[in-house]
Amino acid sequence: MNFPYKLIDLTHTLDNSIPTWNGGCGFNHELHIDYADCEGEDKFRVMKMKMHAGIGTHMDAPRHCFPSGRCIHEFDLNELCMPCVVIDIASKCHEHYSLTPEDIAEFESKHGTINKNSCVMIKTGWSKFWDTPKKYHNNHVFPYISSEAAKLLLERDISALGIDTLSPDRPKNGFKVHQLFLGAGKILIENVTNLDNMPLINSFIMVLPIKIKDGTEAPVRLLGLIKNK
Ligand SMILES: [Zn+2]
Repeated sequence: MNFPYKLIDLTHTLDNSIPTWNGGCGFNHELHIDYADCEGEDKFRVMKMKMHAGIGTHMDAPRHCFPSGRCIHEFDLNELCMPCVVIDIASKCHEHYSLTPEDIAEFESKHGTINKNSCVMIKTGWSKFWDTPKKYHNNHVFPYISSEAAKLLLERDISALGIDTLSPDRPKNGFKVHQLFLGAGKILIENVTNLDNMPLINSFIMVLPIKIKDGTEAPVRLLGLIKNK
């Protein structure tokens, strides 16, 4: 039997030149031992990685902001698989745009009230700048989420909030969405990509973090699932 879902990879590929929060190199993947270094017949290439935990497409756990919040390894996989909706504001987005409660109301007027325990992905279109890290970073000027919109999403009691920028918050506006969401025990997903390939409703998402003990953030392989017809 074929797998009943089509999988959409919502993950950016990691390499040494990707955009990072502080603009420096946050991901280092280098050769440790090469085939020619190996004695004997069996040759291996061994790589090593050095990186910030909050690199590329990644998840923030409540512990990121709150000492008593849950860590990465404490999330059961069943909590990280959920229905997903995409709020598409790409056509009106610019670098100073923030998601508003009106955007959510507009989405809900067309598609119905957002369900409890779902994941809401905000598509700003900013991921198109991923390959130009300076523009993607843009001195921390990128589309974000207003605290009023975040509060409305918390009223819907969603489980996860994702965005295709470095963060749902900009330093200039404070880290209110982090405070609100992680403070409520929810998770955040940052640097999402390929939201163009996701339907606005009727999909699922799987957030698969590297299982790090006491981790506050972790890179994820982020999967969208669309049921086969
Ligand atoms: Zn974050």
